[in-house]
Amino acid sequence: MATYADIIIDISTEKLDRTFQYRVPENLRDKVCPGSLVSIPFGRGNRVITGYVVNLTGEPEFDPEKTKDIIDIKDDNKDRPVGTLLQLAAWMKHHYGGTLIQCLKVVLPKKTPVKPVEKQTVRLAASEETIKSYMDEFEKKHQVARLRLLKALTETGAMDRTFIGQKLNVGSPVINALRDRGLVEIEKTTSYRNPVVSGIYGKKISGLSMDQKHVVDCVLSRYDKGDMKPSLIHGVTGSGKTEVYIDIIDGIVKRGHQAIMLIPEIALTYQTVARFTARFGDRVSFIHSRLSAGERYDQFLRAGRGELDVMIGPRSALFTPFPSLGVIVMDEEHESSYKSEQMPKYHTRETAEKMAGISGAAFIMGSATPSVEAYRRTATGVYELYEMPERITGGELPVVYTVDLRKELAEGNKSIFSNKLKELMTDRLSHREQIMLFLNRRGYTSFVTCRKCGYVYKCPHCDVSLSLHRDKKLHCHYCGYETPMQPLCPECGSRYIGGMRAGTEQVESEVRRVFPTARTLRMDADTTRKKGDYEKILSAFADEEADILIGTQMIVKGHDFPRVTLMGILAADMSLHTGDYRSAERTFELLTQAAGRAGRAVSASCGERRLMGEVVIQTYSPDNYAVITAAHQDYKGFYEEEIAYRAMGDYPPEGHMLQILIEDKDETRALSSAQSMAEYARCFRQDDQAGIIGKGAPCDAHIQVIGPTDASVAKINDVYRKVIYIKSKSYELLAVLKDGIEKYRAERNAQESRVEFDFNP
Ligand code: ADP
Ligand code: ZN
Ligand code: ZN
Repeated sequence: MATYADIIIDISTEKLDRTFQYRVPENLRDKVCPGSLVSIPFGRGNRVITGYVVNLTGEPEFDPEKTKDIIDIKDDNKDRPVGTLLQLAAWMKHHYGGTLIQCLKVVLPKKTPVKPVEKQTVRLAASEETIKSYMDEFEKKHQVARLRLLKALTETGAMDRTFIGQKLNVGSPVINALRDRGLVEIEKTTSYRNPVVSGIYGKKISGLSMDQKHVVDCVLSRYDKGDMKPSLIHGVTGSGKTEVYIDIIDGIVKRGHQAIMLIPEIALTYQTVARFTARFGDRVSFIHSRLSAGERYDQFLRAGRGELDVMIGPRSALFTPFPSLGVIVMDEEHESSYKSEQMPKYHTRETAEKMAGISGAAFIMGSATPSVEAYRRTATGVYELYEMPERITGGELPVVYTVDLRKELAEGNKSIFSNKLKELMTDRLSHREQIMLFLNRRGYTSFVTCRKCGYVYKCPHCDVSLSLHRDKKLHCHYCGYETPMQPLCPECGSRYIGGMRAGTEQVESEVRRVFPTARTLRMDADTTRKKGDYEKILSAFADEEADILIGTQMIVKGHDFPRVTLMGILAADMSLHTGDYRSAERTFELLTQAAGRAGRAVSASCGERRLMGEVVIQTYSPDNYAVITAAHQDYKGFYEEEIAYRAMGDYPPEGHMLQILIEDKDETRALSSAQSMAEYARCFRQDDQAGIIGKGAPCDAHIQVIGPTDASVAKINDVYRKVIYIKSKSYELLAVLKDGIEKYRAERNAQESRVEFDFNP
């Protein structure tokens, strides 16, 4: 019988990130288990705080006389496979940094106190005759509300109390009066709030294609053999991946297990919901950001109790406490929203892989443009690769024109529309077909480019683009290298060199100027502030209330518009030179997705005219491999170039990178904390960490420390921000170094500055 509990206390400071032992009092012994959230007295004043039990033991660590008692249980977490989740939290702490409590909070979301939703059903409780006689009486007395309710109930038998209030306009006094006479009874049931809109049915397909069947069969037969190597499905948009996921999940559910289906929030459309509910009915549930914390918790509870087979949602759905998890599917594996922005800054792909490993579940990823990291792992045999190169509906790829903006300038065209794009826009408008204009702006970085020759300032050390800061100097995010901006292009001497900052608003006014009669819609962060704005704009465009949709990334994800036959990408360079090692990958992804938007309707036709998809990519860097390969929809071509670039710079996945962000209101202290950490890292000898990469090697052969330097946003709300980058071939080495830094800070009490770790940012 466990008498003592090791508890992590709920105060997120690194200093207290260890367990404290408490005695489990008699009355709680059969209730407390690992994962339980308990209240305990803490410190000299016995302040009552909460903590998670991580371990139970019979052996006291200290003098049992001095060991304090647990006060109470706040959440026993008995409905969760706690062992798995505790193990996962410990792994996350080592892999991503942060305190154990931060990790526990991610995997064991706290029970949110919500009023249990009570459903009240009102039903008839007396014989037909009695009811009839009362109805006559009420009619005589003109008690119309009573009469109305009894009438409705004789037709339906029973009704929901809220419905009675809203639709029959009959209030509680009336219902209670009828109950007191024994005419009706009120049945109370607590119900789980099911966020699934019922009554939605997706279209059923007649059967899988050969390609689809092949993937489903392979995955399931490997599953049956216990081969748990993760799978990556590389399939173009429209190749039928979603149907494949549904069939794999169905197969595994039929084998008695449950499934987690991860999708980027933005992809959770009405159609996706319909396709899954059509197959899994009320055994599927969805998590999304519009659910309240309580609703979310209810869904986890349902999963823990075995009421669900499938959970669909963004990255937090990964921690659904299923009793016997059989498969994790991760759609759009490359999406950046899978990376958490808060400590622990975990990556969903790696964490899902770990979780699948611990639970003995299969792990399936899918994407039209897999991340370089994931694709690399198919080459090294860590993942199994499945390819689905054909669209289900057939259909040709769109015709892509790459326009060299330097030439436009040479020909005297200074507008944001190239002649080709203008010509095609005029054509589409005259045929009442729709156009999308895409500005692939990312974040707020501003790079400098020469509009005459395409020259871009790059860091001589890191081979990434430099960003223009307010001090009018160009900075490298990684190493802090800086150089003043010259008035003339260093390459060709042109004065057409400057920042590129066009926004969607400017594009919209330019459209109005050039095409005064065209109706436009704009979708960006500004026009989608309120709930529902996003959907409103999309449906207005789908209903053809506008000819042109102008927008950022948001317009290229999901959603098909059959009448869009032209996609204009205004400046491919905007995502190409963002100053980080992923910029080419993001550009390839965005351009490929954008091109895909215009090509979906090729098989449709409208009158005499075939709706042909055309794409115009405007760029100052037409020779860049990301632009060229995206124009040809050539993923492998892109991958080969990209992996070579990553290898040369030791960037992930060929090397690993740890970013340490140091924040402090006091700039001097921020800098000195950063410097001491960088110093610690430079002196970090793996001799101390024997076994990681072998003893005695000189440390700089394995670790490269860059910085500290100002973060790309050097100050937010009066808080100064410094960064250190540490590169190594070994991820494990970086993780151990991170543990060392945390320990070093704790020992020296140097915790005034806030520190965040980010692996492979
Ligand atoms: P992806 O997820 O790869 O983009 P989807 O699974 O959404 O592809 O499929 C694209 C379209 O093709 C959807 O409208 C889907 O209903 C349809 N589809 C998929 N598989 C089949 C099939 N075997 N037969 C007929 N239609 C299919
Ligand atoms: Zn130039
Ligand atoms: Zn640099």
